[in-house]
Amino acid sequence: MALIVHKYGGTSMGSTERIRSVAQRVAKWVRAGHQIVVVPSAMSGETNRLLGLAKELMPNASTPEAMRELDAVAATGEQVSVGLLALALQAQGLQAVSYGGWQVPIKTDSAFTKARITHIDDTRVRADLAAGRVVVITGFQGIDEQGNVTTLGRGGSDTSAVAVAAAMKADECLIYTDVDGVYTTDPRIVPEARRLSTISFEEMLELASQGSKVLQIRSVEFAGKYRVPTRVLSSFTPWDIPLEEEAASGTLITFEEDEKMEQAVVAGIAFNRDEAKISIIGVPDKPGIAFQLLGPVAEANIDVDVIIQNVSHDGRTDFSFTVHRNDYARAMDLLQSRVLPAVGAAKVLGDAKICKVSIVGIGMKSHVGVAATMFRTLSEEGINIQMITTSEIKTSVVIDEKYMELAVRALHKAFGLEQGATA
Ligand code: ASP
Ligand code: MG
Repeated sequence: MALIVHKYGGTSMGSTERIRSVAQRVAKWVRAGHQIVVVPSAMSGETNRLLGLAKELMPNASTPEAMRELDAVAATGEQVSVGLLALALQAQGLQAVSYGGWQVPIKTDSAFTKARITHIDDTRVRADLAAGRVVVITGFQGIDEQGNVTTLGRGGSDTSAVAVAAAMKADECLIYTDVDGVYTTDPRIVPEARRLSTISFEEMLELASQGSKVLQIRSVEFAGKYRVPTRVLSSFTPWDIPLEEEAASGTLITFEEDEKMEQAVVAGIAFNRDEAKISIIGVPDKPGIAFQLLGPVAEANIDVDVIIQNVSHDGRTDFSFTVHRNDYARAMDLLQSRVLPAVGAAKVLGDAKICKVSIVGIGMKSHVGVAATMFRTLSEEGINIQMITTSEIKTSVVIDEKYMELAVRALHKAFGLEQGATA
């Protein structure tokens, strides 16, 4: 008997028909003798609908008081899901009970709309499991010290599930979703993309942070920190496929580097259209300038990603960085109105039509020339690189948005990631 956490995403919970299928699948695991905790998302489209309603009443909810209410609204999507799923499980003849985050409780800090889990008390859940119940816990939501309902940021149900699995020392966390695993890149862009049967935790973390949307990045951080065996698999296989087959499907996140020794240098290619580039031209080149430019940006809670500073000419330099597109207008405003006059720079230029393409692989640690292959491939396609950033296991470039698909396809081929290719 194992203790297993199942997480079902929005499309897996998208209709009563789908919810019934989830219940049948869970029942299969229970009848095989396992203890199951299920963490579902809101039904697909529901969180967007709820936040849309809130937006009609307050277009820019940004005060803590308003954000508290956004969470109060958004958290209801998962509340509906858990109740419906518990009913569907009972209809399968199982004992099942649903809990909101506050009932478990899943404690978080008070950063409304992007709260962090601080503690999970599993006493109540354990008692239910011991009594033979399936426990269904809301994804996405928690409760802060003051008793306010919080949410964990979009896509946060993944993090709820992995955190519950970590707190309960579950044998495995199964993330059921609408794709059948983690791919070398998005198959919608490269049809030859290949499913990886395993991926190292470091690579998964990098892919998630570079734009792969399969798992919320915080869930991967949690999986790494607590070494939670986590598997991404499809909820769209027939629910009654043999359990052994299902248990071995999808992509398993691994923690042992040697398991990857034989595998490709580059595991996957991520891309991200969510960023915008800002350049500050003619900045006086003196100590403290990066802080003077980026300090106010950080204070305004705007995250900065790729940063480059050019060599200076005649005591002046150019400074470029990327921000999330949602923060672009605000960042440009802030720089024009406050920062530019304060530092005495010449002008600010912005470009929201960029994208970031990244190659990721722990094999890059021990292979030279990987970045060079990337640059050669892009140059052969006539794609201009605007910015470059590297770490031990990834190289990212910023390029014109209109070349994104071309770049991803060319790189996928150049690194031999296609189906059947022996990398
Ligand atoms: N329902 C939330 C969202 O749409 C959380 C999740 O699905 O993971 O972002
Ligand atoms: Mg998701």
